[in-house]
Amino acid sequence: MSVCCKYCGMSARDARSLMNGWCPKHPDGSCKGKHALYEGGERDEYICVYCGTKNRSLSSLLGGWCSKHPDGSCKGKHVAYDGRESGPYECKYCGREFRDIASLVGSWCPKHPNGPSRGKHSPAR
Ligand SMILES: [Zn+2]
Ligand SMILES: [Zn+2]
Ligand SMILES: [Zn+2]
Repeated sequence: MSVCCKYCGMSARDARSLMNGWCPKHPDGSCKGKHALYEGGERDEYICVYCGTKNRSLSSLLGGWCSKHPDGSCKGKHVAYDGRESGPYECKYCGREFRDIASLVGSWCPKHPNGPSRGKHSPAR
């Protein structure tokens, strides 16, 4: 079993060697930080926590611009969900349950920290 970086999708034999390397897609800037372990393990498909986009490859999901990124549409890349592998999924703000991530992140949250219905539900771990 291999491990992957949650920023760039690079895979390595084990977590220690992964986290020794500089990450070209680190959120602080290219190679400004080390790879970080993606804790979701190996999956059939990977899902973005902002827009619900699915991809069978972690690195291609992470390489795509996210139309629903919190910094603005396509101002950042997709971020892979690393919580449970099957539903129901719970919103971390309001606790409402959804069968799949795509419908969870696709609807407005009444208890969003930016104000009622000022943002979408966000999956809890
Ligand atoms: Zn990385
Ligand atoms: Zn996305
Ligand atoms: Zn919610």
